[in-house]
Amino acid sequence: MKKVLVAEDSGFFGRMLKKKLEAETGAQVCWAQTMQEACQFIEEQPDGFAAGIVNFHLPDAPGGEIVTKLGERNVPVIVFTSVVNKQIRDRIWEKKVVDYVYKEGAQSLDYLVSLLNRLERNRHIKVMVVDDSDMQRQVMADLLRVHRYQVLEAADGKEALELLAEHPDVKLVVSDFHMPHMDGFELTQSIRKSHSRQDLAIIGISALGDNVMAARFLKCGANDFIIKQHFLTEEFYCRVSQSIENLENIQAIRKAAVTDFLTGVSNRRFLFDHGERIYNQMRSSCASLCCAMLDIDHFKKVNDSYGHQAGDMTIKRVAKLLQDQLPESSILARIGGEEFCALVPGGKDEVVALFEHIRKAISILPVSLSSDNESIHITVSVGISSEPGRNLLDMLSRADAYLYQAKKEGRDRVVC
Ligand code: GH3
Ligand code: MG
Ligand code: MG
Repeated sequence: MKKVLVAEDSGFFGRMLKKKLEAETGAQVCWAQTMQEACQFIEEQPDGFAAGIVNFHLPDAPGGEIVTKLGERNVPVIVFTSVVNKQIRDRIWEKKVVDYVYKEGAQSLDYLVSLLNRLERNRHIKVMVVDDSDMQRQVMADLLRVHRYQVLEAADGKEALELLAEHPDVKLVVSDFHMPHMDGFELTQSIRKSHSRQDLAIIGISALGDNVMAARFLKCGANDFIIKQHFLTEEFYCRVSQSIENLENIQAIRKAAVTDFLTGVSNRRFLFDHGERIYNQMRSSCASLCCAMLDIDHFKKVNDSYGHQAGDMTIKRVAKLLQDQLPESSILARIGGEEFCALVPGGKDEVVALFEHIRKAISILPVSLSSDNESIHITVSVGISSEPGRNLLDMLSRADAYLYQAKKEGRDRVVC
């Protein structure tokens, strides 16, 4: 489990922080009230801390010594403070901290939790800084590394495009405008040919107070811009985090749109939007491919006798069993109330045997009801088509015809 160091002399805040962070981030919190105690925790912790949340002024270290100490050990630090004036702000940023948070009630604790969770996610996110000035590029790359992003650097547009081809999973590009060979607009337009705004964010850095340039960056496909003249660390971090969070939200919406809410497996839309492409991929990569349709028998009776909730639980158990039993490279979708479709790599005999096994496993699977010790038993019918056919729809409709046959012949069986 990851560990977080909290250095806070106030008993009230320290206790509250420890409780909140442990409950909402899953981290184990080591809480020190003095620099001496904090140093002891640091010595006892050979693997280091995932983060430090510290009061800038501790009773035995009033000058931010704890920040320096954690910085030397490459621990990302968030400063928790009740006073922020220009002087303190400058001293805090000088020490390359992640952020500072005002000590003002529950909201600041929520902010801290979201920052810690952000830091954890950032470790898996690639970002790129493009600037021909070594110094400027370094400043931004360092800021991003403090937030634990994986940072790539390019000195011009050509290098940026080459790096992007090597790392197509880059999520954010921060690009200067004035660069040799290719300016920031051209680079933005080139990136947009292969990466949409929903998949990769671009923040343009425009020159001295140039709003028109900022607007042009946006029109070329950038998601946001920063005007260099007013560069403020807080603003930089906020814009970067917002851009990344927008991408994450879009990704979550996309995932939700193709996921079945009840069971967590793919839904009908997924099969019809992406099925054909996957079917073609699987056909070219697997020697043989089968399509199975599985439907719970007399499911209406489950609902009628035990209630809708018990029906839902039954559907979930069947989905879980299918997920566990099917090979990892299969595609499983819930395409109707109690009906599933699976594309499974493998020949006819192999896949029929697998579904025979699944059918038997389901027939003895007890779905327990929460109300008492009673449990429900169900059976399923399965239709399998083992000939690839002209396209996915063709394969699906033949599997469906076999399923119909299985129902007609008495249910609880596999027909191929
Ligand atoms: P058969 O053996 O011929 O398949 O009979 P059946 O009763 O299983 O099939 P039928 O299609 O007549 O009924 C399916 C029922 O599934 C009707 C519907 O109310 C129920 N159902 C559909 N979606 C859900 C769901 O999400 N949760 C629950 N609990 N029931 C659902
Ligand atoms: Mg049914
Ligand atoms: Mg049905």
